[in-house]
Amino acid sequence: MTNFEILKQRDDEYIIHSYGRFPIAIDHGKNATCYDLDGNKYIDFTSGIGVNSLGFCDDGWVSAVCSQLSRLQHVSNLYYTSPCVGVAEMLVKMTGMKKVFFSNSGAESNEGAIKAARKYSFTKYGKNRHKIISLKNSFHGRTVTTLAATGQDVFHNYYFPFTEGFVYAEANNIADVKSKLDSSVCAVIIELIQGEGGVLPLDKSFVSELSMLCAEKDVLLIADEVQTGIGRTGTLYAYQQFDILPDILTSAKGLAGGLPFGCILFGEKTQDVFAPGDHATTFGGNPVCSAGAKEVLSRLTPGFLSEVKKKGGYITDRLKKMPHVKGVAGLGLMLGIELGSIPAAEVVQNGLKNGVILLTAKQKLRLLPPLTITYEELDSGLNALEKTLAEM
Ligand SMILES: *Cc1c(COP(=O)(O)O)cnc(C)c1O
Repeated sequence: MTNFEILKQRDDEYIIHSYGRFPIAIDHGKNATCYDLDGNKYIDFTSGIGVNSLGFCDDGWVSAVCSQLSRLQHVSNLYYTSPCVGVAEMLVKMTGMKKVFFSNSGAESNEGAIKAARKYSFTKYGKNRHKIISLKNSFHGRTVTTLAATGQDVFHNYYFPFTEGFVYAEANNIADVKSKLDSSVCAVIIELIQGEGGVLPLDKSFVSELSMLCAEKDVLLIADEVQTGIGRTGTLYAYQQFDILPDILTSAKGLAGGLPFGCILFGEKTQDVFAPGDHATTFGGNPVCSAGAKEVLSRLTPGFLSEVKKKGGYITDRLKKMPHVKGVAGLGLMLGIELGSIPAAEVVQNGLKNGVILLTAKQKLRLLPPLTITYEELDSGLNALEKTLAEM
């Protein structure tokens, strides 16, 4: 048996089967290159679903995290620590947002954003203005409330009763949003590019009309940038390419470069919604995760971000010449590839045999490579993808 097969047997015996896993076990890596337990090499086009923004084990990141780890690993949020203040300061200065709350994941950030939106409205307008409009085909997380916020019926199963108060509107259809935006609505939550839904960018005109509509009615605009954030689309956050400023922004995935970390950014209107005791989490703002996040943010210079866009363009140009490719959507290093008649999941399976790790999003192939991927790694991964597609 291979090392992988032995591990898989133990996994089968001890771990709940809530994931459909691909048949490899990744053992170690550097930047966008990694190796499995049996020594096979892969180019990583996934970053662990947009998490390892600086790739595997980036030198600067490892050193920032390790030096914090040997200094102080955790204190409760009843005390101050310097690393989390540092990240918050960077986030505020790099955006137009005003204040930060730290969490541990995307779903948790969205939970906090939903609580904040409801409290903002309750305090100002009283009861019965608690509804949140979410877009069809969206994805906002796996807690009972964020599943309810997710605009896809397949997620609304088994776990009844779901949190009430969510209404779903058609993406890129401002008339549909307007028809649902009555006096019971306190917020609208959007992904600027629907990630899990198939890498579908919202129209700029829809987003700008939505933002004006929300401002007019004092309805909060929540941008779920869990997947689109942290340089992924070529700007720190995607909203910066849509000429809007959300009232609340949620972030996680790539924020700490591979450590569990999330945050909610609050704007002018919402910065004082949470008072002491209103919202909390044990691990939020953890110093080790904060050190990782500080290193990630310090690397996202204008030059670095313009490289992200350039690499996205380079990949797109090459993809368009590949067999079965019908179209490429997305921004920066968040790309969705529309395929002809071949199933995306099969391309991912076959890609592994050719040494490239890929993702799907609905019927599409999805690429979320580390932002630091080199052109050499890109070419090697794209060659493997091209070979895979040609063989199908
Ligand atoms: C991944 C994702 C989430 C959920 O994040 P978790 O860290 O898995 O809880 C929420 N929203 C979007 C847009 C995501 O891509």
